[in-house]
Amino acid sequence: HFSPLPPAPEGPLATNSVLASFEDITALESAEAMRRDFVANVSHELRTPLTALMGFIETLRSSARDDAAARDRFLSIMEREAARMNRLVGDLLSLSRVEGEERMRPTGKVDLALVLKGITQTLEPVAEAAQVKLISEGEAGALPVQGDPDQLTQVFSNLVENAIKYGGQGGEVRLRVSLIPHEPVLRGKAYRVDVIDRGEGIDEQHLPRLTERFYRVDTHRSREKGGTGLGLAIVKHIVARHRGRFRVDSKKGEGSCFTVILPAA
Ligand code: ADP
Repeated sequence: HFSPLPPAPEGPLATNSVLASFEDITALESAEAMRRDFVANVSHELRTPLTALMGFIETLRSSARDDAAARDRFLSIMEREAARMNRLVGDLLSLSRVEGEERMRPTGKVDLALVLKGITQTLEPVAEAAQVKLISEGEAGALPVQGDPDQLTQVFSNLVENAIKYGGQGGEVRLRVSLIPHEPVLRGKAYRVDVIDRGEGIDEQHLPRLTERFYRVDTHRSREKGGTGLGLAIVKHIVARHRGRFRVDSKKGEGSCFTVILPAA
């Protein structure tokens, strides 16, 4: 980046144009570096389960051949690793689709209240298995927004699943809906959904990076819980496509609150 600039032609306009092209190259190079990072990350994430699968195939072929109990155990692990790859590929496709569509605001009409109700019904058994109480509170009526029902379902499923997975030890997860008569940034009526847990919280230094692809506070823990590291990146892009706002508040040791604000239709 520090190769000498060509001698500046005379006059202020000409100098500006040299500066502008210098900045463009820097932006291009950093986009290229991000793309390379992403490809490297994806390859690494895919290779981890693949290596495990190949190792177990090898073991099944040799030592575990005549040991039925070991075979069952290895097959379960293989199933889990294959499921992980499947989730990862699914999340990559979701992410690439929503990134491609970001400029096009969805045109459908969706009742956010029904989306949230569907999610609590689907995730109730997951919460119960984790001994977490799933609590819905706030606005009870219809909450019409302009949007894509599947994508909005994905947003709130990701958030509630995360709250159960990472904040579940607090024993409860709250889904709180409120109406904002005039949202200052969106400049109009909006609905606010908070997904609140009383878990371990997130250290402040991580908050700005949580929506980066593959960023995890604790990689081992995320993997163990079946995470792909793409959930919040997908949330961020879907919310942007819906012209909404997304924020995270958290306090270490007290819990986290993930907030989505969507313009009312
Ligand atoms: P993952 O697939 O790893 O869950 P996400 O993009 O959904 O990926 O989340 C990124 C990281 O943010 C997680 O790995 C976890 O460390 C952290 N995180 C997300 N939600 C919570 C939460 N409710 N409480 C604590 N940490 C969380």
